[in-house]
Amino acid sequence: MEDNFRHKGLRKQLVDELRSKDITDERILDAFMVIPRHYFLDTSFVQQAYSDIAFQIGAGQTISQPYTVAFQTQLLDVQKGMKVLEIGTGSGFQTSVLCELGAKVFSIERQRELFLKAKPLIEKLRYNPKLKYGDGFEGWEVYAPFDRILITCGAPHIPEKLVEQLKIGGKMVIPLGAGNTQEMILLTKDSNGEVSRRSYGKFRFVPMLKDTAK
Ligand code: SAH
Repeated sequence: MEDNFRHKGLRKQLVDELRSKDITDERILDAFMVIPRHYFLDTSFVQQAYSDIAFQIGAGQTISQPYTVAFQTQLLDVQKGMKVLEIGTGSGFQTSVLCELGAKVFSIERQRELFLKAKPLIEKLRYNPKLKYGDGFEGWEVYAPFDRILITCGAPHIPEKLVEQLKIGGKMVIPLGAGNTQEMILLTKDSNGEVSRRSYGKFRFVPMLKDTAK
């Protein structure tokens, strides 16, 4: 796999496109500029890697559209050193964005095939998240509580254990809805442990499913 001037040029175009779609956090745009997104797709799809579209990554799953990744990351409001739990490692691209922002990242994937593929790739990029093959509905108790939780699949309901594993003052971004479209929800846990939510429009995700796949 190589990353050359052509790829960098394509990344610059993508970053300009994201900027024009109201992604304003320069740290996130910088992360998109640095991470070779074409590594996360099959090598023959270089052009698609830098188009603002979702793409198949195997096991019937998709790498989220760049705009969706950027939008979710912006809502999540990640600061350096924060503990962030991601549900749905998938290709590992979003995981890498969170690492690039300086977060301590924990990510769970229920498809073994994808978990096994993402791990060496993320390591090759010299990021150091903790990755787990498991069911995101359970969260990751031993590392809880988390400053931020990001769900990257369509959740049929707000997973209770994830709310429990969120710090006071913490934020969770969750695409909510069991059907074809989800509503992007930002959930905040206040000092009494009460949870409030705000909606940020409609998006489309693959479903969050219970238990692990074989
Ligand atoms: N963040 C990924 C997006 C992948 S799509 C990326 O940047 O590529 C969502 C992923 O969530 C899929 O890989 C799917 O297998 C996974 N998923 C679905 N239900 C899950 C669950 N209960 N626990 C963990 N991962 C889950």
